[in-house]
Amino acid sequence: MKLVFATNNLNKLAEVQKMLPNTIEVLSLNDINCFDEVEETEITLEGNAKLKANYITQKFGYNCFADDTGLEVDSLEGKPGVFSARFAGEPSNSEKNMQKLLSELEKKEDRKAQFRTAICLNIDKHQYIFEGICKGEILTEKNGEKGFGYDPIFKPAGYEISFAEMTSEEKNKISHRGLAIQKLVEFLKDFKN
Ligand code: IMP
Repeated sequence: MKLVFATNNLNKLAEVQKMLPNTIEVLSLNDINCFDEVEETEITLEGNAKLKANYITQKFGYNCFADDTGLEVDSLEGKPGVFSARFAGEPSNSEKNMQKLLSELEKKEDRKAQFRTAICLNIDKHQYIFEGICKGEILTEKNGEKGFGYDPIFKPAGYEISFAEMTSEEKNKISHRGLAIQKLVEFLKDFKN
């Protein structure tokens, strides 16, 4: 079965393909000649994941899944959440996003936060949602060089290092996206078509 992952991020693609049986071939947007930019106009992660998956299924006719991720900070009522990529405005800039978050949390005691990923899968006319959550806290300064986005200022619960100090293998095992993908993979392994 061919299954489109609505992304052109080759790292994400390889990660999923590695975890799936080779009866499922994962295709990127480039692989299906989709060069359209689908705007993330919904106000929830699930909404944006559905929007992207539905666009591909409706326009190209493929079974497809799409993901959306946000960083939800308790003392900011779940912000930046669905707006994580453009928290400090557009174009998206991780350095500015982290500085804005650090300054908004300067006087707050509660620094608890979670990363949350929603995946929407459209398969054989049915739709399924998978969620992955990684709880932790926002550090007071950046630590580490690896990863991307907010990784240098996010410390997962139970660890003494930030996401940006972990190898990608270590991070994938416990991360929001890793957990959501594991749920998707388990589902697909049992899926009969
Ligand atoms: P996306 O839905 O994967 O594009 O993620 C939206 C935004 O959330 C990104 O632009 C990053 O700022 C942030 N983000 C998503 N996943 C991670 C992660 O694993 N670590 C750090 N930041 C992330």
